Order: sequence, then C-alpha cells, then structure tokens
Amino acid sequence: MKNLFAERVLRNDTSDLNEIFKNSRNPENISFAGGFPDKQLFPTQALKAAYARAIDQAGPAIFQYASTQGLLSLRQKIADRMATHAGVQATAANVMLTQGGQQAIDLVAKLFLNRSDAMVVEGPTYMGALAAFDTYEPTYYEVPVDKHGMDTDRLRTTLAAHPEIKLIYTVPDFHNPTGTTMSAKRRQTLVALANQYNVMILEDSPYRDLRYSGKAVPAIKHYDTEGRVIFISSFSKILSPALRTGWIVAATPVMDALVGLKSAIDVQSPNVTLAAIDQYLATNDIDAHIATINQQYRVKRDAMLRALDRYFPSTVNYTRPAGGFFIWVTLPAGIDAQALLRDVVLPQAHVAYVPASCQFASRQVKNGFRLNYTSLSTADITSGVQRLGRILQTQLAV
Ligand code: PMP
Repeated sequence: MKNLFAERVLRNDTSDLNEIFKNSRNPENISFAGGFPDKQLFPTQALKAAYARAIDQAGPAIFQYASTQGLLSLRQKIADRMATHAGVQATAANVMLTQGGQQAIDLVAKLFLNRSDAMVVEGPTYMGALAAFDTYEPTYYEVPVDKHGMDTDRLRTTLAAHPEIKLIYTVPDFHNPTGTTMSAKRRQTLVALANQYNVMILEDSPYRDLRYSGKAVPAIKHYDTEGRVIFISSFSKILSPALRTGWIVAATPVMDALVGLKSAIDVQSPNVTLAAIDQYLATNDIDAHIATINQQYRVKRDAMLRALDRYFPSTVNYTRPAGGFFIWVTLPAGIDAQALLRDVVLPQAHVAYVPASCQFASRQVKNGFRLNYTSLSTADITSGVQRLGRILQTQLAV
C-alpha cells in the first residue's frame, strides 16, 4: 500500500532511527536519547485541582465547542508573560493556543512553504521540526550553530546567495540539540538581515524559562519592528507535555491566516485543558514552580558535565549549556555516531543517544550526538556516561 502514499511522506526514511529508539526503551539500557521532562516534577496535585476547579466554575459550557484561537483569559495571561519574561509586547489578539509547540511549527510551515520553497534551518536543529517541515518539501539551507547561536555571518552570505529564501527557523534559547543560547547581538543582526532580505523568522523557544545560570537575553521578537518574527513556545517543559498546549505570538495578518489554518485542522485545542491551565496559573505561582524544576535540572546538568569531564576522552568535545535539556557531543572527524550506536554503544554499553545525522537537514554530519539529562537520575547519568566513556576510550584509541 506504500506505493499509494503521497511523495511528501516518503521523503525521509527514519526506519534506522526508529529501530534505535525502540532499542533504547529497553529497561536494561540507560537512554540519553529522549527529550522528556522528569515526571516527578510535574505539579500533579495542583493540576488535578485546577481541572476540577475549571469544570466547577464553567459548568457545562466547558464541554462545548469554543474559539479556534483559544480561551481568552489564558491568552491574556500569556500576553502578559511575554512582556515580563521575554520583552515582547503583545495583546491577547496576537496570541493563539496550539496543540503543543509541534502544531505551531506545522502551522507556520503550512502557511509559508510551497513545495521547494527555500528556508534556513540551523545545523544541527530540532529533528521534530525537520519532520514537520519535510512534509511541505522545502529546499533547506543549513547555517551552523556555534557557542553564540546561529552563525549570522554565514546566514548573511546564505541570504545574499539565495534571495528566494522565505523563512528562517531558529531555536535561540538552550537550543535543541546543542544547548547553546543566541547572543543579544546576533538576535539583533538576525532581525536586521530578515528586514533587509524580506524573510520571516520562526523563533521556537520552549526552553526559554529553564535557565540554570547567567542572565536572560530578550527574545528575538523583542527586536522585531516589522512583524516578521513569529514566536512559539509551550507548557510542555515547564508544566507537562501531556497537556499538549503551546502558543504562537504573531502580527495580526499572520495570526489571522494561522487561525484559519488551525480551524481547518482541529477546530480548536481541547478547551477543558486550556481552562485547567488558566486555573493553574490563576491560583499557583508558576515562577516558583519553574524555580524548583530549574534547581533540580541544574543538579542533573552538573552531574552530567562532571561525568563527561571525568570519563570522556580528551579528543571529544561537548557543550556546557546554561539551561535547557541537552548537551551536544562532537566526536573526532570521520566517526559515524549512528553506526557506533548500533554496533557498539547499544549492544555493549547499553546506553543510547540521538546520533547527529538525523538532526541535520543535509544528513551529512555524522560525528556527533545529543545527550538528554533531565529525565534521568543523577546515578544513572553518572553510570551511563561512565559506560559510554569506556566505549569511546577504546573506539577512539584504535
Ligand atoms: N520545539 C523544540 C525545540 C522542542 O525541543 C520541542 C519538544 N521536544 C518542541 C518544539 C515541541 O514540543 P511540544 O509540542 O511538546 O510543545
């Protein structure tokens, strides 16, 4: 039946990777491959109470169809938070609630990308975004990420060489997968380049509040003067991913079009959940909750960095993120992290990571991998990195 599938879904064969993920779920393995929050940190009782209160207060109306853009009082709270936490002035009319940040990425891709339209992605980038973009069959231009975020010099030459580029996708805060944060200077340069070359920017920032050290940088959208930046974020990493609730902040013409697209896809996000999140925010201090999870995640990040410093060979490099979920490891040139995982790391060390190639649109870079630390205990972090380090010591010595 596969021969009847649309071409767009056949574009990338992920069967190798699916196999790796399947194996990594085996309980005898320590998996650094996922991107999960620590479930012990979900505010389970407070959310349970918030759902009950939301239903009690709204009565039967809560179970009725509601607006596509989403519950007004929650959009208002998000607009207020955008001002205080991201330096972005927005009204509730410029906010739409979505089913996670993932749906927001898909909606923006659907709005801007005709088949073979040109867009910029970071190299590496969030593989779930590549999966969403792939179904619109764009032409990718990859711009590398260094320790200050997307390389804006390379972006400038790419835009000059390809004036047909329409959209730039970036994860500026605690980047998935490298953990790096884009400097304020580069954010300003990025907006100036988008203005100069008439390009839209998709700023995807679900990790923004998860800062363990250093000072926050304003969102890219803070520097936006022409309505070119579409900001998206999510409650997945700060409350729970099962709520499947994210949001988009966009200028009115873009917002109007996105509301139309969402209406055609799912009519609205589940209103009961939106009302429960609204209640949670009205009666709990989410910043205190975030401070608690940041304290726990800081301990896990530090445990992983300590283990990497101790057990990894000196020919291997890795990032030292100030927040977020991930550390990026760079192996010496010529090493294929995916083959290494399949042939040695999983069968011998019983450890899993996400290899580089599936996190590059070009699929060409192979000598790296992503490690997650938020979902594991510090004991598993340490012993998993030790096991991985032992394998790398022997593999890289030959
Ligand atoms: N963007 C980035 C950069 C992510 O890492 C993720 C989740 N891993 C998402 C978007 C989507 O998350 P959700 O749909 O749960 O909000």
